[in-house]
Amino acid sequence: MWVHFVAFTILVFVLMWFFQIVFLEKFYKGMKTRSVTNCAEEVIASFEEDYNFGDRSSFIETYSRVAVENDLCIEILDKYGRSMYSKDVLGECLIHGKENRTYVFLESLKKSGKTQIMYRKVNPRTNTEMLIYVGILGKADSPDGYLLINSALAPVSSTIVILKNQLMIITFILILIAFIISLFLAKRISDPIDKITKAAENMAKGDLSTQFDGRGYLEAKKLADTLMYAEKELSKVDTMQRDLIANVSHDLRTPLTMLKAYAEMIRDLSGDNPKKRNEHLEIIINETDRLSAMVNDILDLSKLESGKQELHTTSCRIGSKMNEIIDRFKGISDKMGYNIHFIPDEERTVTCDVGKIEQVIYNLINNAINYTGEDKQVFVRQINKENGVLIEVEDTGDGIEEDKIKLIFDKYYRSENHKREVVGTGLGLSIVKAILKLHGYDFGVRSTVGKGSVFWFMINDQ
Ligand code: ADP
Repeated sequence: MWVHFVAFTILVFVLMWFFQIVFLEKFYKGMKTRSVTNCAEEVIASFEEDYNFGDRSSFIETYSRVAVENDLCIEILDKYGRSMYSKDVLGECLIHGKENRTYVFLESLKKSGKTQIMYRKVNPRTNTEMLIYVGILGKADSPDGYLLINSALAPVSSTIVILKNQLMIITFILILIAFIISLFLAKRISDPIDKITKAAENMAKGDLSTQFDGRGYLEAKKLADTLMYAEKELSKVDTMQRDLIANVSHDLRTPLTMLKAYAEMIRDLSGDNPKKRNEHLEIIINETDRLSAMVNDILDLSKLESGKQELHTTSCRIGSKMNEIIDRFKGISDKMGYNIHFIPDEERTVTCDVGKIEQVIYNLINNAINYTGEDKQVFVRQINKENGVLIEVEDTGDGIEEDKIKLIFDKYYRSENHKREVVGTGLGLSIVKAILKLHGYDFGVRSTVGKGSVFWFMINDQ
């Protein structure tokens, strides 16, 4: 920033020097030429408006005033080229009282064929440049007289020397100021960024309680706030991941202990007793199922969340599909006394990724069974709507508190108060959410604490 600031200042001065020194002379001469032309026009106008109508004194007054105001020597010649009036404010001029010269100027005018000419000439005595104007008074073909103006061109070179010196001083002072201001500004901007960078390095090393301080500029403050937010989110993920590992290891340990215990029992005790052995083997098989279900959950979710999962949509008859899924729970509902009521609507064919939607319904019913009340009732409803089919899974359990509802779809979230020996990793609803989001379906929960919950989602069928 400092380099840019100083470079910009230098650029401004280079441009200024260039224009002042190179163009000053041109500019000055152009200005002078225009000014002399204006003066000539004023005198000519007065000649035509006053002199030609007999008002000589006004004319004399006009050209005298013009001469005085502009530091000029003005000569009015008659049509033969003889001096009639003159006003010389300039002094050392090339036209006043020099008829042989004025004659030469008139010749040049005639030769040029124009009504007015202007040229520069060096005054040999003073060695300065002079600007000479020669113009016709009256008509071009029969002039009433001539107007000659001599203006001095001030030596620009001496002005340039003065300007150069001034510019040099100004340049030096301004570069110094630019240096100081930019140093100050750069410090003000880079200090908070430096601080944020150091804090971010800290955070990268794993310190998720780093404070970001972006005082100074709005942008730096915003950056600091964003980083604070990122840090908060990261630490959330961090705790969640820790929770997952704790949950998963806990959940894996239980079946593994059982597997080991029953395998040992078969080896040491029941190996020769076919009845007992089969009983124990049955337990081993069930526990293995539990384990693989858990591992599948984790795999499913990580696949779904990797963003690489695609939907393979086919059409399916939703009513019979629901019946099929509920039938899968028959074993446990008969054994443990659960009642799953299916309240169907008219059969509808919908288009979706059947395998994945099956898993959603399965997970929701599974949760309803796990969390339903003592009456062990679960209600599953198919409600046909104009633009799709609404699926509801209701239980009569404890319900979910308002503030928890936001959390239950989060990965790894599990409430601490599991009612029964509930199998779960806290991933079931995350899988539901990932699948429904992938489909773009609406979903949600209505829950009354103490009465139960209704989990619903809407299969859109355009
Ligand atoms: P889990 O394996 O713990 O069931 P889920 O992701 O399926 O994991 O559910 C997350 C949490 O949501 C559960 O721990 C539970 O607290 C809550 N939950 C899910 N379904 C229900 C329900 N039908 N009634 C009450 N709470 C539920």
